[in-house]
Amino acid sequence: MKHCNRKKRIIPWILVLCAVSFSACGKQPVKLTSTNTAMGTVVQYVVYTKDTKVAEEAVLDLQAKLERLEKEVLSRRVESSQVGVINAHADSQAGVPVEQELYGYLQEIQEIAIESDGALDVTLGEIITLWDLDSLAMSDSKEQQFLMLPEAEALEWALQNTGYEKVVLEEEKIYLPEGMSLDLGAVGKGIACDRISKELEACKEIEGAVISVGGSVVTYGTKWDKSPWNVAIVHPRKEGAYLGTLSVNGTCYISTSGDYERFVEKDGKRYHHIMNPHTGYPADSGLCSVTVVSDNGLLSDALSTACFVLGAEEGIKLVEHYGADALFVTVEQELVMTDGMKKLFKENK
Ligand code: AMP
Ligand code: MG
Repeated sequence: MKHCNRKKRIIPWILVLCAVSFSACGKQPVKLTSTNTAMGTVVQYVVYTKDTKVAEEAVLDLQAKLERLEKEVLSRRVESSQVGVINAHADSQAGVPVEQELYGYLQEIQEIAIESDGALDVTLGEIITLWDLDSLAMSDSKEQQFLMLPEAEALEWALQNTGYEKVVLEEEKIYLPEGMSLDLGAVGKGIACDRISKELEACKEIEGAVISVGGSVVTYGTKWDKSPWNVAIVHPRKEGAYLGTLSVNGTCYISTSGDYERFVEKDGKRYHHIMNPHTGYPADSGLCSVTVVSDNGLLSDALSTACFVLGAEEGIKLVEHYGADALFVTVEQELVMTDGMKKLFKENK
């Protein structure tokens, strides 16, 4: 059985700061690159400024903020995080008060769940726990490499404890049925990108940046030469290779969901981490990756997951509804794109 292990490629908690061009007075163009980990994934920073120190401090500050976002707000594995507390109080008749920012995210997520007919469903906590594909795919332990397909009864029980339509959001409170748990894995990195661009806006000395949090990327501002940002899109079937490049201007959010990110193979079948909420099984819509570009990080991330579940035909309708663009790679390695994406994407031949 093959298992993908992205964690091995992560240099844990090492911050590599590298100013590739700077002057003694610090007023010449500086491009600072840095790699770290946060939110269980690799975070890459490229920051353009005239002051190396400003860039270094900005990167350290962003890094600390991402760690706090995960620990204090989004992680369901941290009991004291806002999502952890919500999950622990499922079935509270009085509802669980939600802080304003998270409440806003949950409202947006709920709307996308409805628009995608439940392809995006952040109430899949029990299904995700049942499969435990994240730890299987990341594990080095031989024992854990053995994937046990869920028993029909357990799957049925978990499916009964999911369903975005059973969640009520009212007056800054959430009402979650007993047994249900939220998992914001499908939107967390996009939310992180939204947070990053807000922070960058507040730091006037930073003129441009490209920051990737796992499969979600935010481009911000401009480069010295005003040329577009080029964002490489991972090839879903050739490890270490790129499928092509997206050229975008200014602030833009790009998210990719793929069956190559976290998966286990058993008997020639790939079991990956993006679930079809209707079946409780890994989505099987004929795609191996979807990339979405939009002007909002949460939206890009949510749509890339939803489109992966829906498949290219329904996915295109969904992204067009939101004025976003998408690139779909089918299991036959065909590329399907929205018209807008055709202008942004250049394939590596
Ligand atoms: P992404 O890589 O952004 O597509 O997000 C995948 C992650 O979101 C998984 O690791 C799960 O934690 C969670 N997830 C899986 N399937 C879904 C789904 N259909 N809707 C919402 N969240 C999901
Ligand atoms: Mg996503």
